[in-house]
Amino acid sequence: MLKRKAKHDKMSLTRLHKRAWDLQSKAIRQEENGQCFTCLKKDDWKNMDLGHFRHGKNMDFIRENLHVQCSRCNRFLHGNLGIYAEKLEEKYGQGIIQKLNALADKLKIWKRQELMDIIEKYGEKKNPPLRKRDKRVASSS
Ligand SMILES: [Zn+2]
Repeated sequence: MLKRKAKHDKMSLTRLHKRAWDLQSKAIRQEENGQCFTCLKKDDWKNMDLGHFRHGKNMDFIRENLHVQCSRCNRFLHGNLGIYAEKLEEKYGQGIIQKLNALADKLKIWKRQELMDIIEKYGEKKNPPLRKRDKRVASSS
């Protein structure tokens, strides 16, 4: 425990951000059973991306902004955002788009403690660092 904390204390914010993102990406892709939010295609969660609705580092840990997507929707269709918006309203109700847009316009620097809380929440111990192959699919555009 102490050792782990010490390790994180030395990690750069960029690395912590990446680590928190990787853990969160894995957890959400599992939680949503590898089903694409926008076209409903299903695959092994490891083959799926975690797609943003609004992009930007400030939006990287906003849960409603993040859902499983296939690489076609996320990459080729650049997020398939028209459908993404419809699905968000179906899931969270009206106002969600405005809420996410407002957040996206705000400057937000994730603090060390916030990133460490995310890492803690998604379980560093339960999820050892991703293997090379997982890293590739975990990094969404
Ligand atoms: Zn899709």
